[in-house]
Amino acid sequence: MYKMFFTGIFLTGVLGALACAQEATALPPVPVIAAVPTGVEGFLEVKGNTVYLYYLPTTNLRKIEARLRSRYLPLAPQYRELFTSPSYPVESRISARLQFLLMRVEDILGMKPLIAKVSIEVLGSRRDLQAKCFELVHANEAYKAFYAHGLRTIFSSEQDIIDSIIAHELGHAVIDHYFMVPPPSKVAELLAGYVDEHLERE
Ligand SMILES: [Zn+2]
Repeated sequence: MYKMFFTGIFLTGVLGALACAQEATALPPVPVIAAVPTGVEGFLEVKGNTVYLYYLPTTNLRKIEARLRSRYLPLAPQYRELFTSPSYPVESRISARLQFLLMRVEDILGMKPLIAKVSIEVLGSRRDLQAKCFELVHANEAYKAFYAHGLRTIFSSEQDIIDSIIAHELGHAVIDHYFMVPPPSKVAELLAGYVDEHLERE
């Protein structure tokens, strides 16, 4: 559960669990990224190094980009350039920002598990997100985001996605990959909340 905005969830259920980087270390290059169709429900895909973004063609990417830049990340200016420079396509800037968020989360938690891929699926509205939650665990909750353990996917909506929420949910993803046996949900929520509170600290 996301404390400040009441966003995330960490449910255990049918899927096993539906839960809700620093000194910057080696930083990934930012390739020129183009969205490609996934063939799944009409979603487009932006492949990152680790974080993959899925969204509908109707999604306003510039709005999402702005919402993913609401928080300060302690990074060297040349790296910040990667997700602010207009010379990069918006897909690349978003992808870089998400990748840095993941690195920042790993640094704050002191956990660097091997993560092949974490997906972020941006649905059109909170109502669509609610329907997705119901589809997955038959819970009728109006969350702003949640992390589905079994799918290794963060679900949010165009209406609610923001970097605070994504950092919290990436916290769940890192915890999920780090522990062989996932910690109790209350502990995972405390850790994910810790990530959000420490995002800006040098
Ligand atoms: Zn949570």
